[in-house]
Parts: sequence; structure tokens; C-alpha cells
Amino acid sequence: MVAGLEVRGAVVRYGQTTAVDGVSLAVPRGSVVGLLGPSGSGKSTLLRCVDLLEDIDDGDVLLDGEVVTDPSVDPVAVRRKLAMVFQAYNLFPNMSVLDNVALAPIRVHGTARAQAREEARELLGRFGLADRADESADRLSGGQQQRVALARALATRPRALLLDEVTSALDPELVGEVLAIIRDLKEEGMTMLIATHEMAFAREVADEVCFLHEGAIIERGDPEQLFTDPQQPQTQRF
Ligand code: ADP
Repeated sequence: MVAGLEVRGAVVRYGQTTAVDGVSLAVPRGSVVGLLGPSGSGKSTLLRCVDLLEDIDDGDVLLDGEVVTDPSVDPVAVRRKLAMVFQAYNLFPNMSVLDNVALAPIRVHGTARAQAREEARELLGRFGLADRADESADRLSGGQQQRVALARALATRPRALLLDEVTSALDPELVGEVLAIIRDLKEEGMTMLIATHEMAFAREVADEVCFLHEGAIIERGDPEQLFTDPQQPQTQRF
């Protein structure tokens, strides 16, 4: 059994478009895989199909060796074991930062309110947001809100984190503070599948990078090698 995430031959079609075209990859527990590729190459669809937000037309997704795309498996239960963070942070704007982070542990995971709030405070502290905990979420900058979104994702103690272009909507000067958190999460051994346009960051943080083109992985490997000596013309141009 492979601990971590695995995708085997995943296919997702929208009408005539094959958004994901036979993708196989593994994210062993504690490792980081980066998904690169131009807009429309299927990164986001692939992440959504790992999180079972998208029906796959063929192939399988495995979490810690279990085939979670099997019809007998409850997708909601699987989704509770994973956490996805999107480009748009989607916080509840009028709720406090602390409540945003504590909400899912209380409502979805049945954690006692006091404990969830205490853990949320601790997470916010780690992310440099202790002093903002009681403020309304919409008072924070984009970078701070995305840090809250990451804290919220971690509050449910996911087995893996799926990140979909989490810095793309941020002003350039706010990107660094979000990347710093992801770097820390890697240090702590979080399993992550990350779609990103931040090349230098992917190179630094990923154990493997996969380059997608028209829904398929056309090149993959060690980031250092892929960036210094890309083999495919599309990868070279990118
Ligand atoms: P990326 O994340 O790399 O930008 P996407 O996964 O968003 O790529 O898109 C892959 C392809 O699937 C694109 O051709 C896109 O237009 C198409 N696509 C994505 N989502 C949908 C949808 N809900 N309905 C129809 N086509 C979609």
C-alpha cells in the first residue's frame, strides 16, 4: 500500500473537451508534487477530481491505498480527509477570522467548540495572525485572507492538502507571505499537490513536478532537472 495520494489513469471529459487525459501520479505521504502547465492544461480539473468534486470518466484516485473513486465510497467522507485551497480564498467575510478557522472542526468534525477555538488560535499564531483572530475576515489583506484560508484548511487535520493557484489572485508583494507558509508546511511533512504558476517556488518546494499539456502529463521529474534541461518543446517554451 502506498501512503499518500495516487491517481491512476484519470480521464475527465466535458463534451468534446478532454480536460484530463489519462493522468497518473503519486504523492507519497510527506512529499510535494507540483503541477505546472499553461492555463487550460487541466491542473484545476485534476485537483478537483482528486478532491472528488468532479466525476472522473475513467481511472481511479487512491487515498492511503484505498480506491476512493469506487462507487461504494462516500465522497463526502473522503473530502473530509482532504483539504483544498483555491485562488479565491472564499472566507465568510462577516465572520471573525477565528470563527472561519474553527467552523469546520466544530460543524463537520464534531470537535468541541472550546477546543476548536483554542486550536484555531494556535494555528493563527503559527501563521502570524494571532492579533487578527477576532477581526472580521473582510478587514484583512488578500495575503492575510489566504493565510487564514490555509489555516482553515489545516484545522481539520487533512491527510493531504490540494492547492489550486493559491497566490494567483494576490498582489505581487503579498505572494511571499503565502509561499512562506507553504514552505513551512513542507518542512512539517504535509503531503501536498500544488498547481502553481510560481516556477521558482515549484522548483524549490516540489519533490516532483509534472508538466501538463492538453490534459496529459507530457514531462515529469526532478524539478532541478526539468527546469534546467526540459525535453519537450512545450516545456521548453513554458
Ligand atoms: P487549468 O487549471 O490548467 O487552467 P482547467 O482544468 O481549468 O485548466 O481546464 C482544462 C480544460 O477543461 C479547459 O479546456 C477548460 O476550458 C475545460 N473545462 C474546465 N472546467 C470545465 C467545465 N466545468 N465545463 C466545461 N469545460 C471545462
